[in-house]
Amino acid sequence: MELMDEQESPSADRPLNTITVAGRELLLVEVGGGTEIHLASEFAEGDTAIQIDGIPGDYEDPTLWEQTTLCGRSWQGMAPGADDPTLLWQDAAFAPTCRACLRVVDSWLPKSAAPIGVALLSEVVAEAVVARSSTYVTGVPGEHLEATRRAIRKALRDRGFRSNTHVIDDVLAVWSDDAYQALDPDELGVSAVAAIERIMSGEMSEANAPSPQATIAWSTWVSDL
Ligand SMILES: [Zn+2]
Repeated sequence: MELMDEQESPSADRPLNTITVAGRELLLVEVGGGTEIHLASEFAEGDTAIQIDGIPGDYEDPTLWEQTTLCGRSWQGMAPGADDPTLLWQDAAFAPTCRACLRVVDSWLPKSAAPIGVALLSEVVAEAVVARSSTYVTGVPGEHLEATRRAIRKALRDRGFRSNTHVIDDVLAVWSDDAYQALDPDELGVSAVAAIERIMSGEMSEANAPSPQATIAWSTWVSDL
């Protein structure tokens, strides 16, 4: 590996680690001195913008990002996603963990009687199902199961996909034949096909449990504060 000039971004090839909620793309970012994952939204006219790695003009992606996180802190860098080459040094981040950021995102979503964050969780689940045709939500409290199911099915309906849900212990499995049909089976991969078969069989043993990357934890998104 060549030594790099200080001005040159060592991570220009890093894939963007983003989620989409309520039609807005959000970058998963880290701030100094903390392990929490925060969110930065796309640059809006009139604000101070920053590009990946804070080096304007040094990144091919034209998207500019707000200089501060949704919770109002300056961010240091993008949190690495699953395909990130810097993962050698740290774990991948799949979801924001900062409660303050989550509350801001939740405020963009329609209000309901469900706990704060269920609408947001549903958006994240719907995105995952559209991308992979199925996903699992782990740790859903029994009293919130019905509201969670309804919200997820609605989020998928809003995207034009019918869906099914199935409960195995405290795991809510969600899948969509419509999403499955819309995907290229070659791109879908063996693991996603296996996940569907697992859900259909209604069995979940330790041996065939979904990988952590294929699950979404209810408690990450839903605030019980
Ligand atoms: Zn935050």
